[in-house]
Amino acid sequence: MRKKRAFIIVLSACLFCACTKTSVISGSHQSVHHEFGESVHEKEYEDTYVMNLIYPKTNIKDVDEKIKQTLESYKRDFTSQQFNSETNRAELNVDYQSYIKDDRYISIKLDIFINNRKQSEMIETMIYDLKKERFLAYEDLFDQAATEKLSEIIQTKLKAQYPKECSTKSFMIHTAASAHNFDRFILRKKEMVFYFDAHTVLDQSAYVEVSYEEMKDYISMEQEEESVVVPYQDVLNEPVKQIDKDKPMVALTFDDGPTLKYTSAILDCLKEHQASATFFVLGSRADDFPQLLQRMILEGNEIGNHTFSHKQLTTLSKANIEEEISATQESIYSVTNRYPKIIRPPYGSKNETVLQCAQDKKIVTWTIDSEDWRSRNAETIVNKVVKEIKDGDIILMHDLYASTAEAAIILIPKLQEMGYQLVTISELYEYGKNDAGKIM
Ligand SMILES: [Zn+2]
Repeated sequence: MRKKRAFIIVLSACLFCACTKTSVISGSHQSVHHEFGESVHEKEYEDTYVMNLIYPKTNIKDVDEKIKQTLESYKRDFTSQQFNSETNRAELNVDYQSYIKDDRYISIKLDIFINNRKQSEMIETMIYDLKKERFLAYEDLFDQAATEKLSEIIQTKLKAQYPKECSTKSFMIHTAASAHNFDRFILRKKEMVFYFDAHTVLDQSAYVEVSYEEMKDYISMEQEEESVVVPYQDVLNEPVKQIDKDKPMVALTFDDGPTLKYTSAILDCLKEHQASATFFVLGSRADDFPQLLQRMILEGNEIGNHTFSHKQLTTLSKANIEEEISATQESIYSVTNRYPKIIRPPYGSKNETVLQCAQDKKIVTWTIDSEDWRSRNAETIVNKVVKEIKDGDIILMHDLYASTAEAAIILIPKLQEMGYQLVTISELYEYGKNDAGKIM
């Protein structure tokens, strides 16, 4: 068995080991980093395939769970493949690197190598914030301006290293200023490392190191402020609001959040102008941001159910739709002490079964689509909303983007100047301002 393993290492070295063939952009040598976690070796030898997995056990529940889930999914995919028993046995090989940035952030990179007829290598990364006890997402660190700067730095570094190979269309697409191009990265002591698959930026896989110093005007690792979670029973006193039923009113709505940076900025602005909005949150994110959800309620906003995992409900079974809705109801209740009364199905997709599963909760869509996800431009969003707005409108936005937060900060006082009261969906409904048919 040892011999077989050695053979496999030789075979895969050129694809697998970052220190040999892949691009070392900064010139520093990437050796094995196991800065934390205890290495676990898992082997499975069958007639047609072998699995050899090395991964860390961290004793951090969320991290160990995520590693387990990731590996399970690769194992499932791999063992469901067709194997050809007459040639070499197929192989699934996993190895890892783990890094400590400081006493707050730790990162893990999993290297997955599959050899079955053809060879493929994949990289998975995760960063865990020990202080907040949750995973760090790309969006937590990089807004649009930071993404643009990052794109510029990465393009420059790759071009310096590979002057001949960086003029392809694929290179431009995969280094463009878009979050999903750079969302596989880890945090080391002085720099971040971004990973790229083979046949994306270059023919071979690549990584680029970017120091915190290079990005210092765009990201701040310490900027997230501490906020205190309000005790459960204190989340009871919503502000008393004065709404004039004879004056025009509209409802701003924000889907898919919350996100730390953008939802907070929108909440700050709503509070400053004594305005309210409705946040259709994902159940999967509610647990990550209890203080934001509590703030929403305490400051007179409404929370709606946007399902747990943002699946298109019309494609799911009745049981799964019920599960998506009820899991979200429970996760929101657990931090705010109240159940949402409204549901916005992802993509606005609904049918008879969705309506049945909603039970006594109202299904809410929208009357104005700001198309913020498309334009990602504050001015375009503001202009579209201001042009279309009329009494009783429900405006669809997403608290996922810097441009949306920027647009909301302009829109909130602007709509008030135009004479609109900014109310929640339930308030709009209560005062009979909604278009019939939009809310059922
Ligand atoms: Zn959505």
